[in-house]
Amino acid sequence: MNIQQLKEAARIINEGGLVSFPTETVYGLGANTLNSVAVAKIFALKERPSFDPLIVHIASLDDLKMLTENPSDAAMQLAKKFWPGPLTLVLPKSKLVPDIVTSGLPTVGIRMPDHQIALKLIRMAKCPIAAPSANKFGHLSPVSAEHVRKQLPDVDYILDGGMTTVGIESTIISVEGNVCTLLRPGKISLNDIEKALPGRFVFNTTKPEKLVAPGLLKSHYSPNKPLYIYNQTNVRLPDASGLILHGQKDLLTNSHKIIYTSKTHNQLEIAANLFSALHTMEDDATVKQIFIEPVTESGLGVAIMDRIKKAAYKYQPTA
Ligand code: AMP
Ligand code: MG
Repeated sequence: MNIQQLKEAARIINEGGLVSFPTETVYGLGANTLNSVAVAKIFALKERPSFDPLIVHIASLDDLKMLTENPSDAAMQLAKKFWPGPLTLVLPKSKLVPDIVTSGLPTVGIRMPDHQIALKLIRMAKCPIAAPSANKFGHLSPVSAEHVRKQLPDVDYILDGGMTTVGIESTIISVEGNVCTLLRPGKISLNDIEKALPGRFVFNTTKPEKLVAPGLLKSHYSPNKPLYIYNQTNVRLPDASGLILHGQKDLLTNSHKIIYTSKTHNQLEIAANLFSALHTMEDDATVKQIFIEPVTESGLGVAIMDRIKKAAYKYQPTA
């Protein structure tokens, strides 16, 4: 990445255009947070429903103070402990944040990404950058510049930073008074949050009745061909099946194409390679349907299984 590319990207942001940029989680589709018209272009390009709020990316704690209304001590503690990093805090918004960014909610989701290209872009553009993942709504998240080009060929500019490292989207936590609610699981677990805020807090994983994060939708992150969770390794698969595994095993199956996200069920590797594996299967015309091995739901496995279940949801037989 050279400085000219960053300058060009910052110029486009300042002129109200859209730039896709890498973060440690997935690629974002960014616009100047404070420019409502630019933000509207994100919704149009992604075909994202207007009820789905965006995450605002910042490069300093001063930006947090500017975008929120009196952030609580707890919020500041979490920001200082986990930023830059894959944690989004949902906090009461300040008047500066346009309603289109938050879909009319009184709260705003904010994070400081742990990626030099993202941080440099935000600093050069001198504005917080609102950015959801750079994919069409409901589809696979992009973890490389090629994935962005595939889904959003009309984006004004792409900063290519290679593959992302974490590979799944940030943990989202809302902090309201002394209640923390997990809105979307990610690499940072609720347990990590609890440890950072000892004693005084109530921790909640029950989903709020009102939909406050499309990360809560049952179907999301889907490939454009059928995806099934594959529990029985000795069952014969239909012809032209792709199989995604997370560790080596004795296979009694006839799959046409196999991709390993990890050879050893290493959760960090699985998360980093999950969306890539799904993109590769999606792009392979000889694969008609995809089967994917589930993972144990502990640690990062909770977030990985969350994405797998949502990606497969619309293809599950109804009970
Ligand atoms: P994406 O970056 O594409 O993963 O989308 C951003 C996610 O953050 C969506 O699931 C949003 O619903 C969630 N989000 C952003 N702002 C808020 C907010 N104020 N309250 C709840 N969820 C939010
Ligand atoms: Mg997304």
